[in-house]
Amino acid sequence: MESGNPMTPSGKAERDIAETLRQLRLVMTGLQVAGIEDWAAAWSRPAVGLPEPEKAIEQEQDPAGGLTVIAGELEGCRRCRLHSERTRIVFGEGSARAPLVFVGEGPGLEEDRQGRPFVGRAGRLLDQMIKALGFRREAVYICNVVKCRPPKNRTPESEEIARCGPFLIRQIEAIRPRVICALGACAAQTLVGTGSSISRLRGSVHYWRGIPLICTFHPAYLLRTPAQKAAAWEDLILVRDILRTGCVQDGGIGREGMKPSPTSDRHIGP
Ligand code: SF4
Repeated sequence: MESGNPMTPSGKAERDIAETLRQLRLVMTGLQVAGIEDWAAAWSRPAVGLPEPEKAIEQEQDPAGGLTVIAGELEGCRRCRLHSERTRIVFGEGSARAPLVFVGEGPGLEEDRQGRPFVGRAGRLLDQMIKALGFRREAVYICNVVKCRPPKNRTPESEEIARCGPFLIRQIEAIRPRVICALGACAAQTLVGTGSSISRLRGSVHYWRGIPLICTFHPAYLLRTPAQKAAAWEDLILVRDILRTGCVQDGGIGREGMKPSPTSDRHIGP
């Protein structure tokens, strides 16, 4: 039968449609997680996942308290099927007044065991990246898109991201950092609300609810592909410059003034 055969024109059309649907699902999930559940009506009603005005004021005044409330709401969470194989919920950790928030994909094996984000090999590389920016790990905030480990470290599915995403929104809203750094395609696509590849998303400044958002490679990917560490360092320079100057220069990486400094080839790897 011709239908479904990848070698035939109709087989190619089916693959194109499947890919388009996959991209569309990612975009819709990203919009949902960004707080825009119904994009057509988004102009006329408050975004989903935003705390009520009184709660927002409370969180602003007491971000640590806000995070504690959110963590409490996640206790024993069974909102998506990722609950079934987790050992611990990995909520996130760091300073509630952090100027910089890192968002990864989801907990891995070691994170699931310890209940802490980025504590395995990739975590040690992230620690070095944080140090290279001049911070202690405790001074930034680190969390993930989903709080429970996907089986075999697979990429979280749209439904799982849609269920867990509102809690990520509230974490970031509670902290209101000066910069967000998305680590890897899942976090980048979720926060930007697009199906574009991480290679396309990195290297320029995006915005998440008015907060500058820089996308870069996931530390686990950098461990597998050390040649990309230079590109990741360029992204960190962008983070550093926004934190230092408090403003975003026009252009991004590759434009004059945003290029890595001569010392930018410093080692961020293990
Ligand atoms: S991933 Fe998030 S929504 Fe799903 S069970 Fe875990 S805490 Fe709940």
